[in-house]
Amino acid sequence: MSNSWSNWSGLVTASPKQIATPADVGALADLVRTAPSPLRVVGAGHSFTPLVQSEGTIVSLEKIAGLVSHDAATNRARVRAGTRLGSLMHILEGIGQGLPNMGDIDKQAIGGALGTATHGSGPKLGAYHTQLETVQIVDGQGKLRDFSRTNDQDLIHATGVALGSFGVLTEVTLNNIATYRLRRRKWVLPIADMLRDFETMMAGHRSAEFYYIPFSGYAQFIASDISDAAVTPRPTEDDEEGLATLRKLRTVLRWLPSLRGALIKGAVKKIASEDYVQDWLNVYASDRRTKFNEMEYHLPYEEGPKALAEIIALTEKHFPEVYFPMEVRSVAPDEFWLSPFHKRLTCSIAIHHDAANDPLPFMRAAEPIFRKYGGRPHWGKMHSLKAADFKKLYPRWDEAMAVRRDIDPDNRFVSPYTAGLFGIER
Ligand SMILES: Cc1cc2nc3c(=O)[nH]c(=O)nc-3n(C[C@H](O)[C@H](O)[C@H](O)COP(=O)(O)OP(=O)(O)OC[C@H]3O[C@@H](n4cnc5c(N)ncnc54)[C@H](O)[C@@H]3O)c2cc1C
Repeated sequence: MSNSWSNWSGLVTASPKQIATPADVGALADLVRTAPSPLRVVGAGHSFTPLVQSEGTIVSLEKIAGLVSHDAATNRARVRAGTRLGSLMHILEGIGQGLPNMGDIDKQAIGGALGTATHGSGPKLGAYHTQLETVQIVDGQGKLRDFSRTNDQDLIHATGVALGSFGVLTEVTLNNIATYRLRRRKWVLPIADMLRDFETMMAGHRSAEFYYIPFSGYAQFIASDISDAAVTPRPTEDDEEGLATLRKLRTVLRWLPSLRGALIKGAVKKIASEDYVQDWLNVYASDRRTKFNEMEYHLPYEEGPKALAEIIALTEKHFPEVYFPMEVRSVAPDEFWLSPFHKRLTCSIAIHHDAANDPLPFMRAAEPIFRKYGGRPHWGKMHSLKAADFKKLYPRWDEAMAVRRDIDPDNRFVSPYTAGLFGIER
């Protein structure tokens, strides 16, 4: 009997010999020692790259989830790696702690979010892995290993962003902050103004990001700042209705670009501004029901506006089938060896394509623009890079590979896809 697995968007599929959900760390260690290779861990399957794909074993840590311990004085919490972010938020709120920042959704497992350097937005806010204080893994020989920032800083920096290839994460301690409240505002402005004022607008808030709505000439800017005001209702989300309208205009008016552009512009200009105050856990995540595939590149911050202008021109000239908004964020620099934010303030640009359509022509055309500006791809989103490219983009690449070999000397976690990423001969 064959097992089948697919990622969230349906782009990546696998038929492993075994899909396992160990009940505890002991059972997980047995699997690492004995299950068919390669052994790939799945979080929530929300990556667009074939990181989880395996013909051997796919392991889910869904039963290895929840809070282990916490410390109120330092705002630290030790959690099991299978914990989903949505559940983590509520666990933390219950102990008076909050995640300093979050991305678009709360469906990922914390192990999966760490595995690809998942991030939100804010020039002074790092991705999830920057919260790591300790890491516990089962290594490639089934042994438990513990690292801490205090005693093994290099190992934390090597294994914090690990693509499921530096052992299986079982528990992590996160440096959180005390619970807080955010004022979130959204408004629409011409993309020309947004690109002109990019640096001041993005740096003017604790967290800022914007979406460019293709063929409209307009962006929607989203700013969040700490607030101690009373909570007000979060407006009902209408992103899905907006997408349905953009899809319909794309389908009906694909070959009438000026009429399509005029109608989209009219609709976008009418989008009401938002301004509300909510507790942190009610602000960040959205419901994403329309399936898409995505490419996101992390660029040197100052290159963001130029790269985006080129991506917009490419899309509007050659890809009338595209209708998903493009998302632009900033991320703080960090020290992690395989972090795309390694030692540089970053502007991240994400492009999306309806999962019902072939994403490759659009992604292949956009990728050289991102690469020209020195972009590093999001590990969990579509890209075509291999080991030789990463070696040039990551100054500590060779050291990271040496740590990987030490943790996984028999290549138990190496699949054909990750062998290409790491330059491993099989
Ligand atoms: C709708 C949607 C919205 C998204 N929004 C954002 C966003 O705002 N910001 C952003 O940066 N990304 C975003 N992403 C991408 C997503 O956050 C990443 O791809 C993330 O890695 C997915 O988490 P997951 O739990 O599904 O992990 P998976 O995709 O299942 O796995 C990702 C990697 O982590 C490894 N892994 C998982 N668990 C463990 C473990 N316990 N030990 C060791 N390795 C492990 C896997 O082997 C794999 O290499 C989004 C994706 C979707 C589909």
